[in-house]
Formats: sequence, structure tokens, C-alpha cells
Amino acid sequence: MSLVRAGRLAICLVIPFLATTSLAQVRTADPAQRGLTNADFPRAIKIAANVYTYEDFHAGPERFTTTNMFVVTDEGVLVADGQGSPAETKGLVAAIREVTTNRITTVVICSDHGDHTGGNASFPPGVHYIIHPASKAILDRQAAARADAWKLPASAELVADRTALKLGGEELQILFLGRAHTAGDLAVYLPRQKILFLSEIFLNRVFPAMRSAYPSEWLGALIKAERMDVNIYIAGHGFTEQGPVSTEELHTYRKALEAVITEATRLYRAGVPVDQAVKQANWGEYASWTLASSQGPIAIRKVYEELSGQLK
Ligand SMILES: [Zn+2]
Repeated sequence: MSLVRAGRLAICLVIPFLATTSLAQVRTADPAQRGLTNADFPRAIKIAANVYTYEDFHAGPERFTTTNMFVVTDEGVLVADGQGSPAETKGLVAAIREVTTNRITTVVICSDHGDHTGGNASFPPGVHYIIHPASKAILDRQAAARADAWKLPASAELVADRTALKLGGEELQILFLGRAHTAGDLAVYLPRQKILFLSEIFLNRVFPAMRSAYPSEWLGALIKAERMDVNIYIAGHGFTEQGPVSTEELHTYRKALEAVITEATRLYRAGVPVDQAVKQANWGEYASWTLASSQGPIAIRKVYEELSGQLK
């Protein structure tokens, strides 16, 4: 275990994987329920010899983590997603510095949302970005509308389906599993370690957040992920879990998404107007998940949009 000074006042812990979770661990995205305090974050978790996750708090009143992955190779470091602000992503860069002097060469933008891209200005200049065309269009639009928004370099590599790259002898696959939480979610797969970073395709014990989602296609992406040869699934929000727990939790998440779509569909078919449906929805066990109260109504509206053919 070693201590790192992160970008903010906090100290970043680099902790071994086994120290983080066990089968007895409470399954929740809520740090307090897992016995963690603010002082435990940000933190980096070593999940394989050269692979780490980095967890820091998402902004907002409800506490939960935004999780990134980084892969260290002789030829450089690949980072999957950043944090939501330049100060927070500085913390991620500092945590990488703690474990290697190799430079950050590649950043995969797996989710175009601000809580994963808002800090990208803190990545070193000259970094090679990889992004889905739909996400590039979103970021370009934001940069055109706001002078202070981070600008994706013109050299960014577009991945519409899949690509494989070699970095220091390590094979890394960048995969589009279909539209899901956004129109351009990318996943990063490490075939040697059988690790799959799913970014916001997988929100571990966080209520399915559908503001820019494609509900039924998202389900399809999760089923594809479940069928892959994977030992450790990494979520973009919520905690990094041990291999077997991560597999269970991905399955649990797919069930949650199914249940949310089923409940919204039931209300739609019963002819309940959307404004009443948001009040009538019964989320069952998922009502206790992080963000359920704010994301429930958004999910109803999105599923209604899809069922009525308004979602293109
Ligand atoms: Zn997010």
C-alpha cells in the first residue's frame, strides 16, 4: 500500500484488490453503507499486475463514485474515461504518476457525459483520444456552444464498431456494444486479463440513468457484455468489485434495467399519462438504489418516448 498526493487536498490511496471487497460486502453504491468515509477517496485499486481502477466522488448531493480504468504498459498508459472537473482528473493523473513514470499516451472516451469528460483538460497535451462518432458529435456541439468547454482534438480516432490496438505488447480492444446509456458508449476489453471496462453501460447499484439512453438497446448491450469471456467487469459508477461479485452485479444491473423498462411499459400500456406515471411507478427493490428518486421519472419519460416511436 502506498500513499499519493492527489490533485486536491485529499490523499490518494493505492490499494490492493483483495483489500476492497469480499462476498460478504454490502452490495450498494453508497460509500457510507460500505463503511467508507470521504477520507477513503479518491483511491486507486490495483486489479491486475498492470491494471487499476480509480474512484472519486461524483458531484451532487447523493454520494457515489465515478470510476475510471488505467492500463500501464512499457509503451505508455491507456486511460478509460476521466473525472468531472480538471481538479478531479488531475487527481487521476497524479494516481497514475504514483504507479508509473510511463507517459499517458491514450485516452478512450467511453462516455461523453460531463462527469467523465469535464476534466479532460488535465490530461497531458498530445494524448491520443479514441471516441465513438456519436460522442464526438456531442462534444463538438458543446465546444461550439461554450467557449470554456474542453475541445476534443481534431486528431481523435473514431471507433464506430470495434478496433484493437497494441500498446507495449498488450492487446486492448475498444468495443461499441450498441447504443446504451448514450448513443456512443465504448467499452475497453483486455483479452489477456479478461477485464471489461463498461463505463456507463454498467452503473453498479445506481438506478438506470436514462436522460440520453436507448432503453431496449441498452439491454441488448448488457446481454452482449454478459456473454463475453470476462473475469472482472468494471462499472463507470459505483464500486470496483472482485471478479465473481462483478459478474453477479452486472447480472443484477441487467435485471434492474429490465425491471425498470417493464414497469414503465406496464404504465404505458395501461394508458397512464406520463405525468401520472412518474408518480405511480413502483420500482420495488430498486427504489432503494442510488439516484432512484431523481432518475425514476427520467426513466419513465424515456421508455414512453421509445414505445411511442419518438426516440430515434
Ligand atoms: Zn456519469
